[in-house]
Amino acid sequence: MTIVEFLRARLHEDEEAARDAVTIVEFLAERLDEDERAARAAIDPERPGTHWQWIEPSDDTPAEPEDGYLRGASLRTVERFPTYLTENYPELYQDRDGRLPAFVIDTADELRSGAAGHIARNGPARVLAEVEAKRRIVAQHAPVPVNFGDEYTCTTCAHSPTSKDPQPCGTLKLLAAVYADHPDYRKEWAP
Ligand SMILES: [Zn+2]
Repeated sequence: MTIVEFLRARLHEDEEAARDAVTIVEFLAERLDEDERAARAAIDPERPGTHWQWIEPSDDTPAEPEDGYLRGASLRTVERFPTYLTENYPELYQDRDGRLPAFVIDTADELRSGAAGHIARNGPARVLAEVEAKRRIVAQHAPVPVNFGDEYTCTTCAHSPTSKDPQPCGTLKLLAAVYADHPDYRKEWAP
């Protein structure tokens, strides 16, 4: 292999590495946008609460499982909002809270308590916070051009521009692996 062939091959590798690195950032941005859209779609625009809890509708107290199941429970937002009545007839509500939560699930007939707890924990508030945290992690690990733009590296992981460390960095690969079942996921990103 001549020196020119060697350099050409090296340049080709670097271009591929840079393209991969940029692509995984785009892939993650798209997946996180989807997660955010889904979480926002779950928010009632009229009563935009984001924290969910299971409620016993008969007395408005937190629902308690019986024999490992919630029965007849209602999934509602923790946040409560003014209604037409509280807004227009405040004198009716002087000594009580007439505001209403958003009703996510009116009544769940019979729901395994473990599944119920999981649903409530993963309300929009949790998902949106995770999306935001992951976006910041992606930004910290987004590859930047080094060596006069000939190569890309993750400065947070402190990859030396001349090292053999492959791009994208391991942090981006771990984040992308969450979405490994997506058709755009590439197997070479496996951490
Ligand atoms: Zn990194």
